[in-house]
Amino acid sequence: MLHFDLFTLFPGMFAGVFTDSILKRAQESGLMSVSLHNIRHYASGRHHVTDDTPYAGGGGMVMKPGPIYRAVETVLSHPAGWSWLPDQPADEPPVAEEPPALPAGVPIILLSPQGRRFDQDAAGALACKQRIALICGRYEGVDERVRTGLVSDEISIGDYVLSGGELAAAVIVDAVTRLLPGALGCDVGAAEDSFASGLLEYPQYTRPPVYRGWGIPEILTSGDHARVGRWRREQALLRTWQRRPDLLAAARLSQADRDFLARLETGMGQD
Ligand code: SAH
Repeated sequence: MLHFDLFTLFPGMFAGVFTDSILKRAQESGLMSVSLHNIRHYASGRHHVTDDTPYAGGGGMVMKPGPIYRAVETVLSHPAGWSWLPDQPADEPPVAEEPPALPAGVPIILLSPQGRRFDQDAAGALACKQRIALICGRYEGVDERVRTGLVSDEISIGDYVLSGGELAAAVIVDAVTRLLPGALGCDVGAAEDSFASGLLEYPQYTRPPVYRGWGIPEILTSGDHARVGRWRREQALLRTWQRRPDLLAAARLSQADRDFLARLETGMGQD
C-alpha cells in the first residue's frame, strides 16, 4: 500500500485525475491512496497568507516557508491517510508547539523545474515506498529555506516551466501507480513498456487486420512466438536507434541485440 500526501494551494486542480481508470481502480483495490492538503489551511493570521514579495525585488510572489513547513510537519506526524479540514476558515490546524520529527523513509519531494529529471527509473524507485509527500509550488516558486531544510528531493518532469507543481505531481502519481503490482490488471504491460528495458517499445497493432488499406506485419499472425519475440525486440531496437539513440548506451543489450544494431549502422536490417 502506497500513500501520497499532496501539498497544494489548489486542491481543486486534482479533481478528475484520481477518479478515472487506473488511478481510480488502484485506490479502490487498496493499492494506493491519496490525501490532498491545502497549504492555505496551515497559514496563520486572519487572511491565511501563503505568499509574499521576494526580498530585493524581482517581481512576482514567492511562497512563504511557514505554511509549507507547518503543513508537511503536521501531516507527516500523523498516520498516512490523516488530513485536516477546517470547519470554518478561521480554524487553526492542530500544530505541535515544537516542530515534530519527520518520519524516516518518507521522501519529501518538491516539484521544481530545477530538480533532477523524472524518468522511469525514478518512478520505479518511488513505487517501492510506502508513503510519499509531494509539495506543489506556485507563482515564482518557494522560499529557498523549504528546499534547504525540509525537502529530501527535488524533481522536475521536464525542461519547461509550468505555472504550478500540481500537474507535475499528478504525472508522478500516475507513473508510479501503474508500476504497483496489480495496478494495470495485466502485469506484462508495465514490463514491456517503453523505458522498462531501457528501450522504446515496439509498434502495437489491434483489429481490424486492414484499416484504410494498411495491413499489419504478417509475422504478428504467424503464431510463431519465438519469431514474434525476436521481431518485437528488433523493432524496439530500431525505434530506439532511430528516435532516441542516447538511450542505447545505458540499455541492457544481448549479443544478438548488438549484432542487430551493428547491422543497422552499416545500413542493413532496416527492411
Ligand atoms: N521561478 C521558478 C519557476 C516557478 S514555476 C524557476 O525558475 O525555477 C512555479 C512552480 O511550478 C514551481 O515552484 C514548481 O513547483 C512547478 N513547476 C514548474 N515547472 C516544473 C517542472 N518542469 N517540473 C516540476 N514542477 C514544475
